[in-house]
Amino acid sequence: MSTKQSPVSTDIDFDKDGKQISFLRVPYSRNNSAWGAVLVPIVTIKNGEGVTVLLIGGNHGGEYEGPVALMKLIQNIRAEQIQGRLIILPALNLPAVQAGQRVSPIDNLDMNRSFPGKHNGTVTQLIAHYVTENILPFCDAVIDLHSGGYSLDLLPYCSMHYLPDAEQRERTMAALQAFNAPVSLIMREFTGEGLLDYVVEDMGKIFLCAELGGAGRLSPTALKIAEQGVQNILVHFKILPGTVSSPTTRVMEIPEPEYYSYSMTSGIYEAFFTLGAKVTEGQPLGQIHYVAEPHRTPEVIVANKSGVLIGTRGPGFVEAGDCVAALACE
Ligand code: ZN
Repeated sequence: MSTKQSPVSTDIDFDKDGKQISFLRVPYSRNNSAWGAVLVPIVTIKNGEGVTVLLIGGNHGGEYEGPVALMKLIQNIRAEQIQGRLIILPALNLPAVQAGQRVSPIDNLDMNRSFPGKHNGTVTQLIAHYVTENILPFCDAVIDLHSGGYSLDLLPYCSMHYLPDAEQRERTMAALQAFNAPVSLIMREFTGEGLLDYVVEDMGKIFLCAELGGAGRLSPTALKIAEQGVQNILVHFKILPGTVSSPTTRVMEIPEPEYYSYSMTSGIYEAFFTLGAKVTEGQPLGQIHYVAEPHRTPEVIVANKSGVLIGTRGPGFVEAGDCVAALACE
């Protein structure tokens, strides 16, 4: 982790009781605003001593359930109702959220491939660095609300990684079950470095990532799951009063990269299954049609594993290398 000073600033006092709604001021010098900045919204709600939970939406733009659930929470929750501290970043990568796209239009960076960030980097790297250095150290748990965005449609789930430390694994598993999404997924990542997840986990803290729908829309069902999940988490950490009802979630896992299927060609993807369907190894998942070449037989994509379809391609058109399906096993 870098110890270099961040140029990002805020007037939020993280130790002060009450509700504060303000911004992270991220310097962004450009042609039409030499001394300008991107103002990333940040909210703290604190009442006395207790656990600190960080809620994040808009890590990627184009994923709408998280930001909307968190905006509603900000509007409705009063400091007197809670015990402890809530920090809310409803639109972490604000430029991407405003553009309705996964990566920032300013620097073309994916926030969730940019952690731990850089103190002298681009806007996305500056935000990641500020969160890593100035917010994560005093958080006990981080809940990062995603969806499939434009390119994927996902069966709403909340997920955690396989964690080597037994105590951290147990604490994270308890939070995952408390969130109580329809599916609780335990998984490995196959995407390389730069995830917020790893930075939080390396600090020994609890990290959950919810994936709530996708295909470029805001699903009312997934939004409800996000709102209820956040509520459950706040009760679990005793920030809100009440008792967590026994989980009804279905625990599943993605243990190997073979559970993902990719297109090897370009064309229109015809999925043979809807989300939640059971698929057996060797069964065709879908096929890709070559619209400009009617004489060509469609390319069939076969399941490498047996499992439940938890992710499918959003848009009909695919290119070589696109993920078209993800399976998970019980
Ligand atoms: Zn995302």
